[in-house]
Amino acid sequence: MPKNGGWGCLTRPVLPPAVAVDLDGVVWRAATPIPGAADAIVRLRAVGVDVVFVTNNAYPTLAGHEAKLAAAGIDAAGAVISSPMGAAALLRPGERVLVAGGAGVLEAVGAAGAEAVTYDEADAPGAAPVETVVVGFHQDFDYAKMRIASTAVRRGARLVATNDDATYPTERGEVPGNGSILAGIATAGGVAPIIAGKPHEPIATVVRDRCGPTGMVIGDRVETDGLFAVALGWDFGLVLSGVTTAADLPVVPTPALVADDLAGLVDQLLVAR
Ligand SMILES: [Mg+2]
Repeated sequence: MPKNGGWGCLTRPVLPPAVAVDLDGVVWRAATPIPGAADAIVRLRAVGVDVVFVTNNAYPTLAGHEAKLAAAGIDAAGAVISSPMGAAALLRPGERVLVAGGAGVLEAVGAAGAEAVTYDEADAPGAAPVETVVVGFHQDFDYAKMRIASTAVRRGARLVATNDDATYPTERGEVPGNGSILAGIATAGGVAPIIAGKPHEPIATVVRDRCGPTGMVIGDRVETDGLFAVALGWDFGLVLSGVTTAADLPVVPTPALVADDLAGLVDQLLVAR
């Protein structure tokens, strides 16, 4: 019996071949692992479910994500799909890309075979124009960087963002996220950005290519994880361990399953076998 008193069985659960697990609010809250999450991943893999971790957090490298997951007791080697990978899927080999982001964006631009250009390089007198600006979260963003990125856009560069989350949760409350940085560049650049991360198509393509056409997105945020499930054509498994609470129910899109946390959701999935 689900701990939350029955929200869990809105439709008959079916064990999916793949699950795309969100991180913040599902595996951990800020820096604190959520109890039972690591064991839940082990239990899913034990019955053959392909587990990937899909995050809009664009700052860390893939190794950085893997290390934080390992510290939470989860083996995620080769199983992290981050929003910079969605952005990189839009790049062409050899194109000049202004990295308006952190290590994760730099890594993904390199993996795509594109030429990473720093703010200083883009701003140098006589510099060749950049063809794309990729915006990801970086705490050292400032007015000069907004000027350089928006000038590139005004000169014709595409504006691609890893994600447009306005804020993200910390121990000190909600703080400005990449969507807030992006808003400055897009406003000054005078264009609408292409968004790569959840719930948008570029990262959906990356997940579909890796996992196939059927699966479940497990997340805590309806407007990213729920709509991401819709974009993939997958089921949505909602956990109430993050930003969505029982008081918010019912939600749209309608989850196939709702549970207090990842452990409870996996309990329901394993009953479905
Ligand atoms: Mg989340």
